[in-house]
Amino acid sequence: MSPTSSPEANREFAELGLAPELLTALDSLGYEEPTPIQREAIPHLLEGRDLLGLAATGTGKTAAFTLPILQMLRPGGSVPQALILVPTRELAVQVARAVHRYGKALGVNVLPIYGGQSFSQQLKVLKRGVDVVVATPGRALDHIRRGTLALGSLQALVLDEADEMLDMGFADDLEAILAEVPDERQTLLFSATLAPRIGGIARRHLKDPVEVRIAVDADGDV
Ligand code: AMP
Repeated sequence: MSPTSSPEANREFAELGLAPELLTALDSLGYEEPTPIQREAIPHLLEGRDLLGLAATGTGKTAAFTLPILQMLRPGGSVPQALILVPTRELAVQVARAVHRYGKALGVNVLPIYGGQSFSQQLKVLKRGVDVVVATPGRALDHIRRGTLALGSLQALVLDEADEMLDMGFADDLEAILAEVPDERQTLLFSATLAPRIGGIARRHLKDPVEVRIAVDADGDV
């Protein structure tokens, strides 16, 4: 990754349909060209399609789902419009950082919420108003049950590393959260494997999804 990128790079990202504010962010991060999953997923996501993505970490999947969601938000609202569920607090912090970096110029507010962190601190920020919440399922459900995380205006739901979330025992929490989100929403599910339980969630909760599979070689390179 070089600190500057060529107009060529901007053109390739622009051809995917991304807004100028996002192109500027990608330019300043030195992204030279879209990764395969970004190339395949972004145009469909900008059309509002649901997506089942079979892709591991390191493929650029975070930008693939974050960029189109950011483009469709109306920043500055009082309740979240997008909820990204991840298996661990580390990933919550990492994805929230990415959302912040890509969405800064659009004025997007993002909050990571996870167990072990002060509840009242999370509450204070939620009350101020956030556009995107990145959460572990357990803590997200705590907030939903306490009435402190309103999902009525949610337009996009992402299940990131869904196989990991299931392996960590979050299946019931995920179903409980899915029961609380509006029917009219865009749903994205990412998993490194298509285990039967992942297929089950996809069948029940995704509407006519686009399927994107990204092969990773033995070195973990795309
Ligand atoms: P992810 O697979 O989402 O965890 O992303 C892996 C790493 O790739 C992160 O450090 C991203 O900042 C970086 N990245 C994502 N997309 C691109 C791109 N198009 N060009 C260069 N780096 C990228």
